[in-house]
Amino acid sequence: MAKQLIDQAAATLPADKRVSVYQSTKATHEKRTKLLFDQFNDPDLLRQRAGEIKQHVIENLDTLLPAVEAKLKANGAQVHWASTGEAACEAVLRIMQAHGAKKMVKAKTMVSEEIELAHYLEKHGIEALETDLGEFIVQIDKDHPSHIVRPIIHKNRREIATSFEREGLGAYNDDPETITRRARQFLRHKYLEADVGLTGANFVSVESGRIVLVTNEGNSRFSLAAPKVHIALVGIEKLVPRDRDLGVLLNLLARSATAQQLTVYTEFISGPKGATQPDGPEEMHVIFVDNGRTEVLASDCREILRCIRCGACLNVCPVYRQASGHAYRSVYPGPVGAVLSPLLAGKKFPELADLPKASSLCGACNEVCPVNIPIPDLLLRLREKGKREGAPLASVGTPPMGAWALMASQPTAWKAALFGGKALNYLPTKLIPVPALRAWEEKRALPAWRGGEFRKWMKQRRKS
Ligand code: SF4
Repeated sequence: MAKQLIDQAAATLPADKRVSVYQSTKATHEKRTKLLFDQFNDPDLLRQRAGEIKQHVIENLDTLLPAVEAKLKANGAQVHWASTGEAACEAVLRIMQAHGAKKMVKAKTMVSEEIELAHYLEKHGIEALETDLGEFIVQIDKDHPSHIVRPIIHKNRREIATSFEREGLGAYNDDPETITRRARQFLRHKYLEADVGLTGANFVSVESGRIVLVTNEGNSRFSLAAPKVHIALVGIEKLVPRDRDLGVLLNLLARSATAQQLTVYTEFISGPKGATQPDGPEEMHVIFVDNGRTEVLASDCREILRCIRCGACLNVCPVYRQASGHAYRSVYPGPVGAVLSPLLAGKKFPELADLPKASSLCGACNEVCPVNIPIPDLLLRLREKGKREGAPLASVGTPPMGAWALMASQPTAWKAALFGGKALNYLPTKLIPVPALRAWEEKRALPAWRGGEFRKWMKQRRKS
């Protein structure tokens, strides 16, 4: 039986990287759980509430989007709409060209990764420099992020020190403090030289038209302070109806993403610089990006649009922990990516139709999701879509079920199989005759086979 692409990628992941991805995601997940349950009486109720807020948003985008546009304009921002990734890139380029701008500093934004903005601008002679440390390292290495929140989870400090030496940022030194100081020194004057600062938005309040940004490095603040123009690239689903909804979402986002009570910098941007303010951008542009989201909204997987990109589902996922992010072949890895990436791919869905199968359906992602997205249900719906549409990748790695169907429909064969199953308890792993079971047993200690218990229970129940 052919292996799924994600299994093939996982098999090539060096052991040291697998260990470091595993340990780091596990530690963050455990810290997040402790923090939530120590500090809130009922974190699940909070997740439910957050899910309802975001579900309300996606059910009412038709009225909320015009309302937030009006608020943003009243605050002095200019609003643009981009139906595709190309349209969003073109909108950014137009703004840059209108100002004769050649240099941009970028804070971390997943939408810009999604639409490959930096490559697009580079082709048009514009420098778009990443200022988030992880994204900066990804950029100088011409690599891709492998985690939504921690883009360089797959790299160690020795690799980073080598990259810095290669880029002329100082002689090899893998001390983390030296690495961050060198990045800071390099980036600091870049902020002052930049014509445009680009950010994303974690949330946009419809009530006040405020854009909310959270970072731990303060780089989005620097990206906004010096350049004359601020561009915010925002997915259309990033709205919250009221300012007070942020109390729920910001509390959950920080704890779920990095196991912090609050992210170090939480910024509320209410528009361009006012007449009495000494600093800040003179112009602010907000580009709302669709890029496939309305198709997702029309699908039976629309709940995925609640996602606030915290990465908690990646940290807890047994598949992500084994395979790491690049194995998902898309900007969004892990359980959220296994749902969102094939959906956003649109007509290219068949190219990612294997991703919904990159899950054991254990349900851990659903249990940690701060907006309570039923990810396993969505994965099953997408598996069904892949099968219905005959996507070849959707059936790679699927065990042939004919033998199972035959056994399950013949009582005698079923009884024999139950008896045979018990024999497995005494068989050494290497002698198990079914390769998939053997591979499974090699990695995990399974409980002893107790087949037939249900039938015994039924018999007794009928007698009584
Ligand atoms: S699906 Fe949920 S847990 Fe995963 S990144 Fe999105 S909000 Fe976080």
